[in-house]
Amino acid sequence: GGGEALLRVKDLHAFYGESHILHGSEFEIDAGEVVTLLGRNGAGKTTTLKSIMGMVEQRQGSITLDGTELIRLSPDRIARRGIAYCPEERGIFASLDVEENLMLPPTVQSGGMSVQEIFQLFPNLKERLRSSGTQLSGGEQQMLAIGRILRTGAKLLLLDEPTEGLAPVIVQQIGEVIRKLKAKGFTILLVEQNFHFASTLADRHYVVEHGRVVDEIPNERLQENMGKLHEYLGV
Ligand code: ATP
Repeated sequence: GGGEALLRVKDLHAFYGESHILHGSEFEIDAGEVVTLLGRNGAGKTTTLKSIMGMVEQRQGSITLDGTELIRLSPDRIARRGIAYCPEERGIFASLDVEENLMLPPTVQSGGMSVQEIFQLFPNLKERLRSSGTQLSGGEQQMLAIGRILRTGAKLLLLDEPTEGLAPVIVQQIGEVIRKLKAKGFTILLVEQNFHFASTLADRHYVVEHGRVVDEIPNERLQENMGKLHEYLGV
């Protein structure tokens, strides 16, 4: 604390039509941190990521990146400021092959990874170069989805449940990649249901409940807070 956070969210409200979904959420992320959003289904985790990315039309409050206000910017403008979003549904184009999917997003910031660099991070993908989206396993699709946002040059990555539905060995591989990205200086905000996975890579955890952040738990204190977390998450 003390310094200027990389991302600072204040009094964030978000609406889908008449539905008021986020109710004054507040949290911060420092450069280089890996932070998770934990919370029950429907708590507003995905909506929080989408709001940061400008993908929720009606939002109010303040979202600053390095001190620059993003709340009224379009997703495209926000992307150019260096934020990228990897949706839960992954958004792989079924009819395009791995390389074509990787080539889709434009470089919006300098320092975007080349396709070769992405293959170094995900060697499995290189072997699947000419496979179409439909031919990939769930794990390969997730790797492709993460690889794709690395092309943009974004330094702040928003990952929505990257491990959902994946086999433990694949979850481990994705964990490795996230650790490597952290070591390279990326800042990562991820929605995660898998506590164990989250505890192996996150610096801090925020608990989302009814559309706001209600608690913050440093990773080294996750274990002693398990009782409280199980209550929050109803598990
Ligand atoms: P999950 O783990 O289920 O994705 P979440 O914490 O990510 O949960 P959100 O997806 O942010 O929750 O959803 C928060 C609330 O907003 C839910 O009540 C959901 O039904 C509602 N919601 C989400 N998307 C829309 C939409 N496009 N239109 C209307 N309501 C929506």
